[in-house]
Amino acid sequence: MKELSQRVLVTGGAGFLGSHLCERLLGAGCEVLCVDNFYTGRRDNVAHLLPNSRFELIRHDVTFPLYVEVDAIYNLACPASPIHYQYNPVQTTKTSVHGAINMLGLAKRVKARIFQASTSEVYGDPEVHPQREDYWGRVNPIGSRSCYDEGKRCAETLFFDYHRQYGLDIKVARIFNTYGPRMHPNDGRVVSNFIVQALRGHDITIYGDGSQTRSFCYVDDLIEAIVRLMAQDKDFTGPVNIGNPTEFTIRQLAETVLGLTCSSSRLIFRELPSDDPRQRKPDISLARSRLGWQPKVSLEEGLKRTVEYFSGII
Ligand code: NAD
Ligand code: UDP
Repeated sequence: MKELSQRVLVTGGAGFLGSHLCERLLGAGCEVLCVDNFYTGRRDNVAHLLPNSRFELIRHDVTFPLYVEVDAIYNLACPASPIHYQYNPVQTTKTSVHGAINMLGLAKRVKARIFQASTSEVYGDPEVHPQREDYWGRVNPIGSRSCYDEGKRCAETLFFDYHRQYGLDIKVARIFNTYGPRMHPNDGRVVSNFIVQALRGHDITIYGDGSQTRSFCYVDDLIEAIVRLMAQDKDFTGPVNIGNPTEFTIRQLAETVLGLTCSSSRLIFRELPSDDPRQRKPDISLARSRLGWQPKVSLEEGLKRTVEYFSGII
């Protein structure tokens, strides 16, 4: 295991996950350079970090080259919610692919260890369940989710080619659905949608019949795994699944949120978006054995903390 590096760059640092990561790295004594173009991220997410002299915030789009001197790079820049990444799909692919090329080029020049926030979406709508890292996935290359799925798959390819071709020190995590405080209220992802709808007394929008499944990881658990992954020796590149293997149907999620918020909102059913995966659940054996990690926060506990957050801002 290697100590956390001192000067770290976090791209997408003003987003949901990025802001928690910046906070965690500052807490560990790092100097944190947060880069974001504020496409889906917000200054508010990192406003509390600005007074810290070890924190710096730069508005920059990762599809353009960046010249800075750092010891480690965490590449998180990319919209993650389907409605946001499908709003400008060409930009989404550019962010994943050009962003990866630029950050890998930077890592190569300054000899920095580099982390990639990949995704369970690389498995597409999987025929293998739960998903293990050696499963190649079932992704539609021309569908409405492809800009994100294929962009992230291409980014993984680039990471592994930079590793093989130039010996770059890479770490790739495949992140499964993660939720928690600082998700944007209009983010469009299921946990934030359901909580905001329940708190406002609006109808809860279930897409399809709600029998599709997801496995939800609380943000603190995820950040712990990322930090552990980055502390591994160079020989461990991943990809490694990071997520909570406890699987729920979307309908169960809606009912749990209704119970926790004591809301009288009704469940309503809307058309299922195209290419929406039927089921998703990580096999986290590799993270368990190699990182000594497994999630600690139950869905109920994580949802309680997230409801508390949204109650305070909406
Ligand atoms: P988010 O939308 O809150 O954060 C993404 C951040 O990237 C935002 O701050 C946004 O402004 C920034 N960004 C987007 N395009 C950019 C660009 N071209 N240049 C600079 N900054 C840019 O989403 P998140 O949930 O925090 O996701 C962070 C990363 O983790 C993403 O790469 C996402 O694909 C990955 N991920 C997240 C989840 C999840 O469930 N939260 C699951 C799998 C993968
Ligand atoms: N979903 C839903 N209602 C919503 C938002 C999402 O039923 O208001 C469903 C969506 O169709 C998918 C699941 O919840 O089956 C998770 O969606 P999300 O956008 O959070 O992430 P995904 O895992 O699909 O990337």
